[in-house]
Amino acid sequence: MTHSKNTHSTEASSKNIKPGGKSAPVEAPNFLKQIIEKDIATGKHGGQVITRFPPEPNGYLHIGHAKAICLNFGLAEEFKGRCHLRFDDTNPEVEEIEYIESIKADVKWLGFDWGTHLYYASDYFEQIYSWAQDLIRQGKAYVCSLNEEELREYRGDFTHSGKNSPYRDRSVEENLDLFARMRAGEFYEGAHTLRAKIDMASPNMNMRDPLLYRIRKTHHHRTGDKWVIYPMYDFAHPLSDAIEQITHSICTLEFQDHRPFYDWSIENCTVPAHPHQYEFARLNMTYLVMSKRKLLQLVKENFVSGWNDPRLPTISGLRRRGITSSAIKKFAHRIGVAKAESLIDYEILEACVREDLDDSAHRAMAVIRPLKVVIENLPENHREELHPSVHPKKEELGKRAIHFTKTLYIEASDFMETPDADFFRLKPGGEVRLRNAYVIKCEKVIKDTSGQVTELRCTYDPITLGGKPPADGRKIKGIIHWVSAETCVNAEVRLYGRLFKVADPDNVPEGQDFKQNLNPNSLEVIKNAKLESSLASATLEHRYQFERVGYFCLDNVDSKPGAHVFNMVVDLK
Ligand code: ATP
Ligand code: MG
Repeated sequence: MTHSKNTHSTEASSKNIKPGGKSAPVEAPNFLKQIIEKDIATGKHGGQVITRFPPEPNGYLHIGHAKAICLNFGLAEEFKGRCHLRFDDTNPEVEEIEYIESIKADVKWLGFDWGTHLYYASDYFEQIYSWAQDLIRQGKAYVCSLNEEELREYRGDFTHSGKNSPYRDRSVEENLDLFARMRAGEFYEGAHTLRAKIDMASPNMNMRDPLLYRIRKTHHHRTGDKWVIYPMYDFAHPLSDAIEQITHSICTLEFQDHRPFYDWSIENCTVPAHPHQYEFARLNMTYLVMSKRKLLQLVKENFVSGWNDPRLPTISGLRRRGITSSAIKKFAHRIGVAKAESLIDYEILEACVREDLDDSAHRAMAVIRPLKVVIENLPENHREELHPSVHPKKEELGKRAIHFTKTLYIEASDFMETPDADFFRLKPGGEVRLRNAYVIKCEKVIKDTSGQVTELRCTYDPITLGGKPPADGRKIKGIIHWVSAETCVNAEVRLYGRLFKVADPDNVPEGQDFKQNLNPNSLEVIKNAKLESSLASATLEHRYQFERVGYFCLDNVDSKPGAHVFNMVVDLK
């Protein structure tokens, strides 16, 4: 077997990595919930809760974003407030409509609704521009004509304080005039910037006269060619939050050092509300990369089949894989929200998926790598219909029909010619129970000229149906799955291993590439799996447990009626 899902799990042993499986807590603490409860109790923001999810439309959303979505929309839901979906589209070079559409679809699929509150930072450009003019009038912003390299040099670093720009003391009139001409397109890119006048000696680099605007002569997906200056994210973000009267602006930890400038922007512009920024630890997971930049590389360089490749941690990939939105929400609750960085074990997600699917998946039998079995003591045309349950705990889902016939398929790995002592499945002269059917005995092994086993000749014991023991009470230890060779349907089955072969793929020596850690065996395509006939009517809406194998669902791209393609969602533990 080449798919290697479990082979590397022991590498996930860094002390940072949380143990997966059933021992994981059902719901972890969320410190933001406590903050909001206190704010409501003290009447802050009039007891209102307005959050926002602010993606930049420069890629597809991933499971880290799902954590942020569940957090922002979840808090709004819980406290009867609302959550806005806002596209932070201040960087025209990398943004595309395709990403906007995919982001909307993903948020909806996760089960959240922004109602009428869909916004774009670009809708606020005029207002933000006018606040920037106000800052100039107050002497708190200036047009700086240092070029990129000089800007860097003047900024200093963590050990050296910065130097004032020689353009810092331009008059208000000159600044207003230059800023207007920047907007009018009179200057080339990089000729001028608008900067906040704060403190070049601040120990916080973000407060050393940060940029407010830069010139970019790039077409914007919404504003077209109207603007040739664009506000910096750090300036547009707090102002957008204020315009929308966000009460709790929740972002990831890397923005902690940006918070003083967030507050500065709110304090120095005449904004209609005073939102507060809170930071939480972003989601990092073993065996995955989470940065959009890296995911984009995997897509663009064809290491995967697209943004929705079932091996990717993108929401569209997880969806295509067959992971349900309820499993993702369960996962988000289970990992909780904290301030300390951590690396979450991929197995925690898998455990959530298994729990979710065990409850809902329809049962069926499917043989992934078939070995032919002929039941010698059955007549040629024998076709006995048996009726196992669709779900063992949900009788209301009814029964399915399977067929016990003279020719069957079993899993090749369920037979061993020279077995170990602890192998309880089929062996020459040995017996095994066919799940939902009879006990069979292997009478003869047929091989081809190369010595490969091609067929087993067996007999069945007619009194052993329905789990009944053989007449002499002999013990049958093994149970295996099977399908009728006469009524089964063929399908393509895609088995997935981990995308990366090491737990921390980002961790590569200087000058090396994370892509060297890709698992070359992350996808195995089985062209001719044999499925019980009930799966001929499988639908995209349902998940299926192939008994003893794992959870599967139809591929939402490549599966066609009459030519099913199944993805393995997760194996059985
Ligand atoms: P990436 O680092 O993957 O490129 P990003 O942070 O640049 O992502 P944005 O579109 O700016 O992506 O993110 C939208 C929101 O999702 C932000 O509020 C961000 O904090 C949050 N977010 C992004 N990645 C994660 C993550 N791994 N865990 C939790 N939240 C995240
Ligand atoms: Mg970002």
